Amino acid sequence: MYLIFTDLDGTLLDHDTYSWEAARPALDRLKRQHVPWMLVTSKTRAEVELWRRILGNEHPFIVENGGAAFLPAGYLPGPVRGSEQRDAYEVIEWGTPYGELVNSLQMASQSSQCRVRGFHEMTVEEVSTLCQLPLEQAVLATQREYDEPFLILDPDRTGALVEAIEQQGRQWTRGGRFWHILGANDKAHAVKAVGALFEEVYGPVITIGLGDGLNDVPFLNVVASPVLIRSPYSAELKSRVPRGVLTDLPGPAGWNDALLRMIPA
Ligand SMILES: [Mg+2]
Repeated sequence: MYLIFTDLDGTLLDHDTYSWEAARPALDRLKRQHVPWMLVTSKTRAEVELWRRILGNEHPFIVENGGAAFLPAGYLPGPVRGSEQRDAYEVIEWGTPYGELVNSLQMASQSSQCRVRGFHEMTVEEVSTLCQLPLEQAVLATQREYDEPFLILDPDRTGALVEAIEQQGRQWTRGGRFWHILGANDKAHAVKAVGALFEEVYGPVITIGLGDGLNDVPFLNVVASPVLIRSPYSAELKSRVPRGVLTDLPGPAGWNDALLRMIPA
């Protein structure tokens, strides 16, 4: 059984236009072949819910850089280990509460004398502009639970800032647009945990991972077949995920080509 874990921005969605049309042939094939494909993203639950509706995805998903996994209730038979029931989901949570991350970022910014601008300080209009998102989607992007995205305003102090973040016992990562501060969670841990739940029910799985950013490195390194979607970070990504196969095309077109090659018709 194949299991697909995919990033959204810059991977299944075009980095600039958020279009996914180029991936339609592969998405149709996954549906026909009943291959679970799961979104693994730095986006919030509210944003992922919107994209699942748009994309017709009914599978589990992982939000905010591995902060939590949401499984539709009853998706897997029997109780889901380590989960709690919330709304129509079984939720497994690894992330640190958002308020604590915002505090840590402020302290790290002060001690490193590196000014930052976090999502919590931004207006919806600002998030909308920075992310090139419509206002309604920007509202969803600000509903954060486990990860604070931020901009660095003093780039020459970046080294001191990330060191200060680590001293706070937090992790940092970098996506396509923002830096992120997060707790002990990462996409890799969440992907392994969700993969293990499938294996318990269905036996051995073949995992495929697709991503374009440095925040995808951990989870790309724990799947059987990592696919690196071409982006400005491709060279660095390839050096950090040596097993990864780099697509010729960026975004959804690269995503489409890779999966049509890997998943039998
Ligand atoms: Mg990405």
